[in-house]
Amino acid sequence: MRRKCSNRGPRFWRCRPGKKRERHRTNEAESRRYRFKPMLPMQIAGPSPLIPGFNTMTSVPSSELTDLLQKLIKIDSCNPPGREQPVAELLARVLEQAGLEVTITRFAPERANVLGRWRSDGDGPALLLNGHLDTVPVNPDQWRHDPHAGTIEGDVLSGRGTVDMKGGLAALVMACVVLARSRIKLPGDVIFAGTAGEEVDCIGARQLLNEDLGPIGGLIVGEPTRLEVVPAHKGALWLEITTTGKAAHGSMPDEGANAILAMHQVTQRLLDYRPAYRQHPLLGPPTLNLGTIRGGVKTNVVAGRCVLEIDLRSVPGQSHEDLVADVQNVLAAVASEVPEVTASLRIQADRSPVETPLEHPLIQTALEVGQQVLGRPLRPKGMSYFSDASVLAPGLGVPTLIFGPGDERLAHQVDERTELSSVQSAARFYVALVQRFFDRNGG
Ligand SMILES: [Zn+2]
Repeated sequence: MRRKCSNRGPRFWRCRPGKKRERHRTNEAESRRYRFKPMLPMQIAGPSPLIPGFNTMTSVPSSELTDLLQKLIKIDSCNPPGREQPVAELLARVLEQAGLEVTITRFAPERANVLGRWRSDGDGPALLLNGHLDTVPVNPDQWRHDPHAGTIEGDVLSGRGTVDMKGGLAALVMACVVLARSRIKLPGDVIFAGTAGEEVDCIGARQLLNEDLGPIGGLIVGEPTRLEVVPAHKGALWLEITTTGKAAHGSMPDEGANAILAMHQVTQRLLDYRPAYRQHPLLGPPTLNLGTIRGGVKTNVVAGRCVLEIDLRSVPGQSHEDLVADVQNVLAAVASEVPEVTASLRIQADRSPVETPLEHPLIQTALEVGQQVLGRPLRPKGMSYFSDASVLAPGLGVPTLIFGPGDERLAHQVDERTELSSVQSAARFYVALVQRFFDRNGG
């Protein structure tokens, strides 16, 4: 079947009319894995089989959850510079009061992760719930409300991080609190990990891999998904490309070697570059964005240096090493054709794509639980952003689910806001998912 492609927007790695996409390798067997299975019969929200009397519709205290989210928004943890420690300390107090074992790991001034563990009776693998503690920076001048005031209008809470991802963070923590208060005995531990630095370098997630977490059976990341089940997201490879030429007087361009012109050659070749990839039914094609470009020092000087930053978003199956090698080949070709010019690259960020097969029990359980808790069928979808799962999923070798409240299209935006009812739904979902996961995994 011919795949429909948009020719609008950036041309990189999209289909062009009349051009064969011979390098797009489609693996039919892989595609088949993603064909949707029929939904399970509708289940009615009601008492959970594991926590006596727990009702998925009513048992997460909404005022407590709203209060926690508001407190989180009032703490400025914009990154850079980070300063996640006060967020970690707030969550540590909440988790400790509920009876979890809590540790705070500080790894730089004002930078910290927080870990809460609800101990089980059994020795089965744990379920790891993860959310990041930092947010992107904010310019308050453009906002309707103070982005750190936690303003509520009806069901909507505004503020930096409401979507990405303090809403999900509050819901994950409240789910742990509800489970702990119920004194439920599970066959494996429930671990909450609040990580620093996701918005810049995933430093907290990398730090978390140094901890002795014990065996982990699954990872749930509470990034915003509009309450949809996300088994896959793209990876990111950020490259800084530098061309170096020879400066000269602007009136005598032949005396120099123009680094901007060389970079123009680089961008032209990147436009024509078609990386190999397998079509992914949830993620679409890989993309490339030219993020920033800086070159030259003055109008009347031949530019001796030009720097371009590019953002490649990869799909599962693509090797970042291969992508880097391909871009290096582009640079080598330009350097060999343009006299007196050199070209080099530096890797700024390297985040893996994440993928868990649809048929995996974690994803199937999430679809069941979602239908039960939200009262509607859920369809799996993919996300083009990356998350701490890019570090944690390959680092721990675990199946991964991304699920959270909030509309990801409002993340990093002016007037970022989320519906409190969706945060509440996410918390109920997490509570039910934890129980059903352990029920299925040797409870
Ligand atoms: Zn995020």
